[in-house]
Amino acid sequence: MSEVASASEDILKLLQPYIDHYGLLDDSTITIGNLRNAIHPVFQRSNFDTSKDTYDTLKPALRLASQFLQNDALLEWWVQAGLGQEVSDPTTGQVYLNPPPKADDPKDNLRTTMMALAEMRYHVRFSFDPLTDVFGHTTIDRTRPSRPKKNKIFNADFKAATQIGLSDLFEWWASLYYTSDSTTECQRLRFNFFFAVNIVHELAHAFGVMRRGGGNAEPCHSRIDMLSSTGAEMGWSWEVWTFGGQIAPHDDFAAPTAMLVTAIPLPREVAARGDRKICPVPMWWIGQWFQTSTWQGIEQHGRKALPRPPRDLPIQLDDHAEWQLVKAKKRKRDSDVEVTQSISRPLKRRLWRSNTWAPETSLSPLLTY
Ligand SMILES: [Zn+2]
Repeated sequence: MSEVASASEDILKLLQPYIDHYGLLDDSTITIGNLRNAIHPVFQRSNFDTSKDTYDTLKPALRLASQFLQNDALLEWWVQAGLGQEVSDPTTGQVYLNPPPKADDPKDNLRTTMMALAEMRYHVRFSFDPLTDVFGHTTIDRTRPSRPKKNKIFNADFKAATQIGLSDLFEWWASLYYTSDSTTECQRLRFNFFFAVNIVHELAHAFGVMRRGGGNAEPCHSRIDMLSSTGAEMGWSWEVWTFGGQIAPHDDFAAPTAMLVTAIPLPREVAARGDRKICPVPMWWIGQWFQTSTWQGIEQHGRKALPRPPRDLPIQLDDHAEWQLVKAKKRKRDSDVEVTQSISRPLKRRLWRSNTWAPETSLSPLLTY
């Protein structure tokens, strides 16, 4: 974890001159979220191993997570995860998914996938666990009585359910700080957004487990993922598909309300060299996700209406493994000039967020993903 801290310190130093100007932590123009949509059945109260108060505090985040699961435009990712056809790359043997065959009724695949996600309510539970280097993980739970799998996406022979463990940092912050007078609306928005992203990220893994029927390796969600740094990691694939990059805190130790960045996917060969590229996301971008108008736009115009994160402050590792702020692009409310800065301390080349998926291991009775 020490590299994690070092990376965070250096990134923070690079961004320090821009934090206020770009509204990376606070933005007085932010409008409080107004989502009132129903919470998806998979996130129902009885599926959470936590107090009623904490569950109630999580509701704004669960409403956002629910939007990710019930909007037609966003369901496309799940259709491919559930019904996509497995193909093996002839050179590497890596398995990836191709789009499913078109159904006679174009809405059929969508309907099947929606019903599968609703059925997940019987096949997954959520808990808060003392995780050390990840914010969530998905395990196979063979201790609970299995419920018959009805949807054709799921493997009917699989006699187990899934368990999603989320970092107890979320529960701790929700119960102690969320409603505190000293907590800002921007902190609450970052918490809600980061929690929603993490819970759906893990649900993507759990969905795949139910489809495959156990602990065999995840395929890449698409050929594009296979050729990029996203690889065979369903949670990351969903994040990249939805946000254009993986959402991560700039500092694991400041989570769950840290400044957030997107890690931009790179070609597989470039990532294998150790290259990394990230961009911090401003509060106005995070705030948009909590506005009903944003979701009405997505409903009307589809995926192209998704709020893509601005890439005004791209940061990357250079040839000497030093984080560099490539360029601070002008924003319309900025008077910034282009600036290039660097921090000279070499860093180990790695992202600071671990993969939450691993092949089936011998942890018992839960098998870790
Ligand atoms: Zn993951």
